[in-house]
Formats: sequence, structure tokens, C-alpha cells
Amino acid sequence: MKVLVIGGGAREHALCRSLSLDPAVTALHCAPGNAGIAEVAELRQVDALDGAAVAALATELDADLVVVGPEAPLVAGVADAVRAAGIPVFGPSGEAAQIEGSKAFAKDVMAGAGVPTARSYVCTTPAEVEEALDAFGAPYVVKDDGLAAGKGVVVTGDLDAARAHANACERVVIEEFLDGPEVSLFAITDGVTVLPLQPAQDFKRALDGDEGPNTGGMGAYSPLPWADAKLVDEVLETVLQPTVDEMRRRGTPFSGLLYAGLAITGRGVRVIEFNARFGDPETQVVLARLKTPLAGVLLAAANGTLADLPPLRWSDDAAVTVVIASHNYPGTPRTGDPITGLDAVAAEDAPHAYVLHAGTRHDGDAVVSAGGRVLSVTAAGADLTEARDRAYRALARVRLDGSQHRTDIAAKAASEA
Ligand code: AMP
Repeated sequence: MKVLVIGGGAREHALCRSLSLDPAVTALHCAPGNAGIAEVAELRQVDALDGAAVAALATELDADLVVVGPEAPLVAGVADAVRAAGIPVFGPSGEAAQIEGSKAFAKDVMAGAGVPTARSYVCTTPAEVEEALDAFGAPYVVKDDGLAAGKGVVVTGDLDAARAHANACERVVIEEFLDGPEVSLFAITDGVTVLPLQPAQDFKRALDGDEGPNTGGMGAYSPLPWADAKLVDEVLETVLQPTVDEMRRRGTPFSGLLYAGLAITGRGVRVIEFNARFGDPETQVVLARLKTPLAGVLLAAANGTLADLPPLRWSDDAAVTVVIASHNYPGTPRTGDPITGLDAVAAEDAPHAYVLHAGTRHDGDAVVSAGGRVLSVTAAGADLTEARDRAYRALARVRLDGSQHRTDIAAKAASEA
């Protein structure tokens, strides 16, 4: 099978790593990729937002499967263009990707599907904003309706800050605050059959102790020793299957990866958000634990034959990933700094620990930073404590001037396990 992956973050590195380990995959290409992905896939240049260009590249490569990683190309309809060219694609249509692209659309789908979520108002005027903020009270949850890479959400006790964020957005969703731990649950679906993956937890705030600004994600772990053993079955029944059924009923069937961001509240599970693609950094830990070869599963989702697959197989190992981010992330990150120590990780820590690249590129022989989140140091172990120790031991060998990382990824879960 010849596979083309679109994207160039640590999520795509994790996808490419798993695909490269699948014996069914005979050729692996990635566009645009990054310096780490270049070790497992052949890199191509393409405008990832240009559906016609991606379809042309897939045709040129004679690809049997295209996997679209990030949300922006999906919302831009890149999967539609590839599908129209007759090539199987893992990823939803542009219309179906609105479940991530528009918070208001997602709320509407949830209402239609009877999926439990926070009560909310969609506001377009300052008067509506005032009314909604007043209705729910503090802490205030204010979400930009458009795509914002996980950074368009403000959760604050400060009424002025809530107001300021709301009034800076054209259309805003203001909702009830959901208390309780968060879980990310991914499901692979062909629009009818839904295969949940294993749950993970990510860390969205920049600083230890969940302080500081929201980011794209600073680390993740899986499994969740503290979660109810029936959680996945419950979410499949109350959230994932009804949502996939509702999308089909509306004439916008969703195939690809449906990501449910959940809050486990005292009143039960509530959906915080849906995403239309694999989450980063949770993908790094979920795929680290998946034993079933990945390509066949993604192809079955693309072809509508998921019901024919045997159940997914999972490792009993735990996995932890810790993100190394640039100086000044998530503000205006500094780029172009050299990264060293990657060889030492490969020599000393493999195969249990490895470095997945996000924002990196080659500069001559050197690997340099090229984005906000730069690396995702991932490790597996018999339990979270071992996986964590291995990830941080590997991370300590990596040098990137001015970089930052959290020191408490999976610490609480490991200590309670
Ligand atoms: P989202 O982009 O919707 O996932 O929001 C980003 C982050 O903001 C979530 O992961 C939560 O940590 C937080 N958040 C979003 N909505 C709520 C809510 N209703 N109550 C509490 N926290 C929330």
C-alpha cells in the first residue's frame, strides 16, 4: 500500500511512524513533513490547503490512501478533492469537518443527537454577550466560533477578560463551566461503524500545575488509571455513535477520526468539544499503545468497511509524551535554534523512548526549531511511572536553547495508579 500523509507536526510523525512499522505499507510519503518525519517517509512539498494540488500529488504518487492530519486542510475540503479524484482518503469532508470548524455547528449536532454537553449561547452582539455571561456567571467560558488551533478559548473568573475576548470575536459561543477531569477519546469511523480508541489525557496549559495560557497541548498520557473501566463503552453509546448517526442523518456523513473532548463532571460525562482529526499530543500516546497495524484500519475507514475488521488490539503498556516548546511559546515563538542530543536518545533510550518531531527542519546538517511546539518526547513502559521516567530521561538529553516543557506530565496519574 502506498500512503500519503498530509501535515508536518508530531501527530503526523506519530502517524508516519506507525504506518512505517506496518508491513502492508510499501511506500510512505508526507507533505510537507518535518526533519523527523524525513527519517521514515519521503517528504514532498505541497500547499496542504489546496485540495487540487493534494489530489494531483496523490495521483502522481499512485497513492492507495491519503491521510489528512490537521484540521485546516479538512475544513478547506482537501479530503473532498482527493475523494473526487478516486483515491481513498482518511478524513472527513469539508462539510463534516464543521463539527470542529464551527463550535456553533457542533452544538447544533449535539442537540440533534441528544449528546450531553455544556449549555451554551451563540452571541454576535455585545448585548448578547453580556446576557450570556450574566446567565452562567463565573468562571466564564468564551469560545471563538471559528477554527483557532485550541487557542480561541478563554476560561476565566475575570468578567472584563471574558468580555474583551468575546467582543474581539465575530461570533462567540459562551457556555456553562464544566467542572471535572478531562478525557480525550478518539474514534475511527467510516460514517456508520464507530471504533473507539483508548482514552488519553492531555495538558493544555503552558505551565506546571495547569497554570499559564492555553496551548495546543504540552503533553499526554494513556491509559487513564483513574477512569471508570466502562468509560469507553459509555461514551460510544451516549456520544460517539449518536453523533456519527446524526451527521449521517443530516446528509453530512462523518468519516475519519472523531475526537471527543470530554469533561467527567459530577453529573456525568459532558462533551467539551469535537475535533475532526487526531489530537496532538494524544495521538503520540494512543498510537504508541495500538498493536493493530494502522494502515489497514485507516483504509477500512476510508472505504466504508470498518464493520469487517476484527477488534483493535492494544498493548498493556502505558505511554507518556512530553512536548518541548520554543522560547516564548505560545506567544510569538522563537525559531531557528539548533537542536542537539537527538542521536543520544536514539542510542540510549530506544526502543522504549523516542523523539517525535513537530516544528523542526534541516538547516544543512543541523536540525533546528521551526515552530512553537518543537518535539514530543514519547515513551512506553509497564506503567505510567516507568513511561514517565523514560520520557523525562530521554528529554534530559535534548538541548534546545530557551526551550520549555512541563515537568508534571502524568505525574498525578502515575502517583495514584
Ligand atoms: P476547546 O477548544 O473547546 O477544547 O477548549 C479548550 C479548553 O478550554 C478545554 O480543553 C478545556 O480545558 C477548556 N474548556 C472549554 N470549554 C469548557 C467548559 N465548558 N468548561 C470548562 N472548561 C472548558
